[in-house]
Parts: sequence; structure tokens; C-alpha cells
Amino acid sequence: MKALIIGGGIAGPAAAMALQRAGIEATVHEARPTGADGVGVFLTLGSNGIDALRAIEADQPAVAAGFPTPRIDLFSTTGKALGQIRTSGPDGGFTSRTLKRADLCRALHDEARRRGVRIEQGARLVDAEDTGDGVRAVFADGGEAHGDLLIGCDGLHSTVRTLIDPAAPAPAYAGLVGLGGYTRGVPVDAEPGCYRMVFGKRAFLGYALAPDGQVWWFANVPRPDEPARGEAEATGAEEWRRRLVELFADDAGPAAELVRASREIMPAGPIHAMPGVPTWHRGRMIIIGDAAHAPSPSSGQGASLSVEDAVELARALRDLPTVERAFAAYETLRRPRVERIAKQAARVNSNKAAGPVARVFRDLLMPLLLPRMANGKRIQETYGHHIDWNTPHTPPGAASGRAPGYFRV
Ligand SMILES: Cc1cc2nc3c(=O)[nH]c(=O)nc-3n(C[C@H](O)[C@H](O)[C@H](O)COP(=O)(O)OP(=O)(O)OC[C@H]3O[C@@H](n4cnc5c(N)ncnc54)[C@H](O)[C@@H]3O)c2cc1C
Repeated sequence: MKALIIGGGIAGPAAAMALQRAGIEATVHEARPTGADGVGVFLTLGSNGIDALRAIEADQPAVAAGFPTPRIDLFSTTGKALGQIRTSGPDGGFTSRTLKRADLCRALHDEARRRGVRIEQGARLVDAEDTGDGVRAVFADGGEAHGDLLIGCDGLHSTVRTLIDPAAPAPAYAGLVGLGGYTRGVPVDAEPGCYRMVFGKRAFLGYALAPDGQVWWFANVPRPDEPARGEAEATGAEEWRRRLVELFADDAGPAAELVRASREIMPAGPIHAMPGVPTWHRGRMIIIGDAAHAPSPSSGQGASLSVEDAVELARALRDLPTVERAFAAYETLRRPRVERIAKQAARVNSNKAAGPVARVFRDLLMPLLLPRMANGKRIQETYGHHIDWNTPHTPPGAASGRAPGYFRV
């Protein structure tokens, strides 16, 4: 059994390792010719993402690449505390980590290679077809690969998504542009590792104090019309610095100072989310991770959900008798969870982009609602999610009992 994995971001190497555990050989085909060094800013690997990697004993390299982030503290533009969100699993469970996307990518690639997974760089998929008894993938350089199934881990602007369903929706712009940077020498009143997030008057800021004293920060700037591709990058660091300092001028806290003191300002570009993608799989092809359900960075769950997907898909393929049944069982299991988290993130996005009137209500209501929400069922469901690799995947419709522990095409 051989799987073609398209995309070597986060979901791709995780899926390859999970499939290997399930007895399925996988090759990762990644469009970028080189590694992810310097690509992207930073992200959170939630306790649930760590738990998913733990299921395939691949958590340690990722955990070692970041620092613990047990909590998010939220503030208004005036510095009023709005509430706290606990980003750890249940007591005794994992603590979420903050890490550079490039470091997470490298950790997963290194671990996958160490386990014997082949990762081909510079392989951009342009076409694929289900041949009835297998799949054929075609790459931009004219090369081809053949396998028994194809898994699209090719992110927000997925090619596999439209190969599965040409009418699939495109990513939706969330009305925000993301930027980030790293700063030293600006004193911040923050517990190491914990995020402070400020719903500022004109823009949103998040920052965390890393163990080495550096402050990692990101900004979300409201902008109603979607910037053209490459526009955020072309704007240049000095112009962004000027704009951000102006946008943060009236906010309590260190926002403007952090921006002023950062040597580099990295535009992450327009923020998107995927509206519900109706079709995740067709025949022997499926999409997982951001390709299927990018929840937008406001969820803090993009990487974690993509790792959960990878492990759950491998478990379904291990335990169910055909590819089609495994894909269907996987979707039944995953769709409610990822769509709930995406919906929550969409609400956060609209709070970040709130106009002057909505802001007043937001700042009045958040201190009342957040304490309940922060300790509520939803947050616990998100961060406390556990995958038991050894439990057989139950096919949809089956009340209980063991699913067959074999795999057949
Ligand atoms: C360049 C980049 C920078 C990012 N920076 C951040 C960040 O700073 N903060 C944050 O929170 N999230 C960031 N993300 C998003 C974050 O990585 C994802 O939300 C999350 O990790 C889900 O992972 P994924 O593997 O599903 O998708 P991704 O991490 O997006 O990985 C998709 C991979 O597929 C590859 N690919 C795309 N098309 C093809 C194709 N046709 N053929 C072969 N390969 C293809 C891409 O090069 C990429 O490596 C970034 C994503 C990318 C691609």
C-alpha cells in the first residue's frame, strides 16, 4: 500500500509518519525547492496537537522546538483585563507550545526522514487522476508518481481540493492583514510564555515573552478590501512600522514600542479562512489540514488540527477495509470538530475587525462572557482532545465493537 502525500508543511510529514505506523508507505511531495527556513512567523501547537503527535511518538522534537504557553490573557485598548483562556489540556496533560513555523516544519521533516520517509522537494502537483485501481499524480516539471491513494496536505490554496471538486469554494478573506516580529530590550509585564492579547482601538496585538528574553509579537490590522497577492510584502518594513506605530498609538501597553524596536517586521499577508468545504474526498483522493478546513490563525489551532487530521486519517485507513470507507469514517469523525473551531475563530476575527460601536459592546461584554467561556466546555474540548492510537476506528453507523484491523483496496 502506497500513499502520495501532496504538501510538506505540517500535515504532510505528520501524515507520512502516522501512515507508516499504520503499515502504509508514504512519500511526501512538497512544492518548495528548499526547507521552510525563514518562512512564516510563529504559531501555537496546542496541547491537542501535541497529544496527536504523541499518539505516533513524534511529539518530542516539536515540543523541544518551542516554549510552553499555558494561558492567554486578554485586554482592552485601555488596558482593562477582559479575561483569560487556559490553553492546556486537562490537569496533568500537555501544555501548548509557541514555536516558529519554520522550526516546527523542520522538526517534523527531520523526524519523518529519520524514520525513513521520503520527502521530495521542488515537486509541485499540477494534476492528478483516480485511475480506478490507483492514483496518478503529475508535477510541474512533467514528472509523475503513482500510488494507491493521494492525500492533499497542500494548505489554504490547495490544488488537490479543486481536483477533487472543481466547484470547491475558494478561501475567504477575513478582513485582516497579519504581521509579526521579534524584539529585545522592551520591558513587558507578562509571565514568560503566556500570551497577552490586546483588542486595540485600531488593530489587534498579541505578544509573548520567550524564555531567552525576546518578545514575539503579531498584529492583525483590519482592512475591508483584500490586498492583492504580494502587496503586504511589497509594502516594506519601514512603511509597516510607521503604520503600526500610528495604529497602536492610543492603546495601553507596549504595542507601539515593540513595533518601533523590532529590527524586522514580517508581513504574514491577508488572513483567510476556508468556508465549509463540502467535498473532502472523491475516490482515492482526500484533503486534510488547511486544504480542507483552514480555521484562520485566530483559532490558534491550524497546526494542531492538521496534525490531528493526519493521525485520525491513518487510524481510519489502518482499521477500515477499503479506502472509501476509511475516508467516509474519517470525515464523519472530523467534520463537526473542525467546523466548530473554525466558527469560533470567525467570531474572534469579527471582534478583531470591530468598528467603533461594536468595540464598545465587545469591551463591555467580554469580561462578563470570557470567564465562563475560558473554563467552558468548548475550550476544554478544543485543548483537551485526546487520540487513542490503539483504539480501533469505529466505522460510521456502527454502535460499538472492533473495526477490522486490516486494510484492503
Ligand atoms: C508559507 C507559509 C507560512 C505560514 N506561516 C504561518 C505563521 O506564521 N503563523 C501561523 O499561524 N500559520 C502559518 N501558516 C499556516 C500554518 O502552517 C497552517 O495553518 C497549519 O500548519 C496547517 O498545516 P497544513 O500542513 O495543512 O498547511 P501548510 O502549513 O500551509 O502546508 C501546505 C504545504 O503544501 C505545499 N504546497 C502547496 N501547494 C502545493 C502543490 N501544488 N504541490 C506540492 N506542494 C504544495 C506548501 O508549499 C506547503 O508547504 C503558514 C503556512 C505557509 C504555507
